[in-house]
Amino acid sequence: MTRILAIANQKGGVGKTTTAVNLGASLGVAEKRTLLVDLDPQANASSGVGVARDEVRQSVYQVLMGQVPLREVIRRTESPHLDLAPATIDLIGAEVELVDMAARESRLAKALAPVLADYAFVVIDCPPSLGHLTLNALCAAHGVLIPLQCEYYAMEGLSSLLSTVEHVRASYNPGLEIAGILLTMFDPRNRLALQVADEVRRHFGDRVFRTIIPRNVRLAESPSHGKPVLLYDIASKGATSYLELAKEILANGRD
Ligand code: ATP
Ligand code: MG
Repeated sequence: MTRILAIANQKGGVGKTTTAVNLGASLGVAEKRTLLVDLDPQANASSGVGVARDEVRQSVYQVLMGQVPLREVIRRTESPHLDLAPATIDLIGAEVELVDMAARESRLAKALAPVLADYAFVVIDCPPSLGHLTLNALCAAHGVLIPLQCEYYAMEGLSSLLSTVEHVRASYNPGLEIAGILLTMFDPRNRLALQVADEVRRHFGDRVFRTIIPRNVRLAESPSHGKPVLLYDIASKGATSYLELAKEILANGRD
C-alpha cells in the first residue's frame, strides 16, 4: 500500500522542503516509486528538483480547484523513481478560495486517489502555516513527519501543530499518525544543539527518528543547482543522512 507522508511544521525554515526533496530522492534511489507533491506557493520543492516556477503552467493549484486531474500535472524528475506534482504561486489564492468550497479539507486526498497505485510513497511538502493547504495534506496523509531545527525555541509552536493533528484525526482522518520528529540542521559542536536534541528526545521518546540531519553546506547548495543532494554530492554527510532516514522509514514500517 502507498504510504503518504506530510512534511509539516508551521515554523518557517526548519528544513521541511530540504527533507521532502531529499527523502523523496532517497526513497527513489531505494527503488520505491515516489511522488513529491509541492503544496507550498514558494515552490521550493519544485525548483529543488529542477522545475522552475515559470515553466509550470498547470500545478497542484488547478488540481485543488478541480480544473485538472493530478495525473496531468505530474512530471518526471532527473532523480530515479521520483516524480513531481509542482506548485505555482497561484497556491496563495487556494488558501482563500478553498474556504468556500465543498469538502475543502479533502480535495488533495481525492485528487491523489487515482494515482496511488503508481507509487510506493507520496511525500507532501507543506507551507509554513496551518492553513487549508496544510490541512489538506494532513487529511490525505497516513503520517506526519515534523522537522525540528536544533535551536532554541525549536519546540515553540509544536503544541499547536500537535493539536491540529489531533483535530484532523478526530474530525477527518482517524488513521493519521505522527510518523516521527526529525532533528535537522544539527551541529554537534554547538552545545545548545545538543541540549535541544536531548530535550526533544526526553519529551517525545521513540517518536523522534534515530537519524539526525546534520547542518551540511551541500544540502544548502544543491537547491540552487535544481538537484537533490544525492545528485549533487552523493558522498556528502547531507546525502548519507537522508539515505539513512529513508532506510529508517523503510525498516521500521512506521511509515
Ligand atoms: P519554509 O518554511 O520557508 O518552507 P522549510 O521549512 O521548507 O522553509 P528549508 O527550505 O528546507 O526549510 O530550509 C531552510 C534553509 O536552510 C534553506 O536555505 C536550506 O537550504 C537550509 N537548510 C535546510 N536544511 C539544512 C541542513 N541540514 N544543513 C544546511 N542547510 C540546511
Ligand atoms: Mg519549504
